[in-house]
Amino acid sequence: MVYSRDNPFPAKLKSRVRISGTGSEKNVQHLVFDIAGSDMVYKCGDSIAVLPKNSIVDVAEILDLLKIQPDTAVEIPGARKRISIFSALYEHFCITNLPRKFLEWFAATMTDSDEISHMDGRILCADDECKIAAKLHSLLEMLKKFRALRRVDAQEIVANLNKLMPRLYSIASSPLANSNEVHIVVNVVSYVNFIGNTRHGIASTYLANDMNIGADTANVFIVSSMFAMPTDVSAKIIMIGPGTGVAPFRGFLQERQCLEHRGERIGSSWLFFGDRNYETDFFFRDEFLNFKDSGILTNLHLAFSRDQEKKIYVQDRMWENREELWSWILDDAYIYVCGNASNMAVDVGNVLKKIAMEVGNFDEARAGEFFKSLRRSRHYQMDVY
Ligand SMILES: Cc1cc2nc3c(=O)[nH]c(=O)nc-3n(C[C@H](O)[C@H](O)[C@H](O)COP(=O)(O)OP(=O)(O)OC[C@H]3O[C@@H](n4cnc5c(N)ncnc54)[C@H](O)[C@@H]3O)c2cc1C
Repeated sequence: MVYSRDNPFPAKLKSRVRISGTGSEKNVQHLVFDIAGSDMVYKCGDSIAVLPKNSIVDVAEILDLLKIQPDTAVEIPGARKRISIFSALYEHFCITNLPRKFLEWFAATMTDSDEISHMDGRILCADDECKIAAKLHSLLEMLKKFRALRRVDAQEIVANLNKLMPRLYSIASSPLANSNEVHIVVNVVSYVNFIGNTRHGIASTYLANDMNIGADTANVFIVSSMFAMPTDVSAKIIMIGPGTGVAPFRGFLQERQCLEHRGERIGSSWLFFGDRNYETDFFFRDEFLNFKDSGILTNLHLAFSRDQEKKIYVQDRMWENREELWSWILDDAYIYVCGNASNMAVDVGNVLKKIAMEVGNFDEARAGEFFKSLRRSRHYQMDVY
């Protein structure tokens, strides 16, 4: 059976453990899903898509403010399907980041200009500011702020919301080591928005707080990825994965350990991991140190940015080890980068180029072309988000 967004598998949450230590600024959790009874298959490097649910408390408060019965039927726009307004707001539509169409509809519908001016004029402003307001207000915040909005009917609300999208999580297990299980690592999103309210990420909060262990199921499906281990198990691998970016590499190392136990000759592997503090943010510390002790992991280099005055990142550790790193690259090693898209992947790319120029004596153009060709031959792969 092929599972998909329209036909997901209900996977039971088997276990959930916080892996960021007490005192960490982050809340990072390791979750295990039971996929027994499905014929779901995955390989190391794939992701699992989770269909999240909104906060049930927020949905109840919204319906209360709207004075709408939870079983009031609404039609899903474009789908010719009728569901209850409760189900629509709980599991089908996004009620946190409101889209621009919602604000435009709101501005066109409301007549009480006094109320609207409470929003610092944003809603009536030119395009850019309208967009800012759309991104930053939740439905509940809007209903609390604008009494006039509480007069609209259920169908109008639903027609102006966006669908709730699946969220992807890198799989942190090898199917060889964990049959019938999918492991993930979730950084729980939480921040204070511009009006001073604490906002929680929908999917990460649903997974880390709302689901009951051993009882609840999440609707999931596998998303196959090009981010994959080399078919030649004796090939060298260089894994660069700070933060939750380390997730797939736990799977890679589990897989290599299983293959070695089966008698295969596995290649050398090198992990660059980093986060803020060694004591609280070295996720799966015992496992990675054991992989190192047993030789599954040949090199382990760590960068904890906040443990000393000068911040140290994975790319600094790569630079410190540039001679050996370059020799691995020339020896056909596969380079994998996973994690934060905004800075880390670019910084890692820049340091690789710098190493090619400094150690390999390449000029800038040749270094750029060299890594482009590694991308083409799948020797340099990225999974960044
Ligand atoms: C291929 C892939 C693999 C991934 N793997 C992982 C993984 O292994 N682990 C993991 O934790 N995540 C992973 N992610 C990210 C994950 O899919 C979700 O995006 C993440 O969990 C947040 O979803 P959410 O529903 O909790 O947050 P949402 O409700 O979607 O909220 C997130 C949004 O909140 C806003 N926001 C967040 N922080 C702030 C802030 N400080 N200030 C202002 N606004 C802010 C931003 O607009 C952000 O887009 C992956 C993504 C992809 C595409």
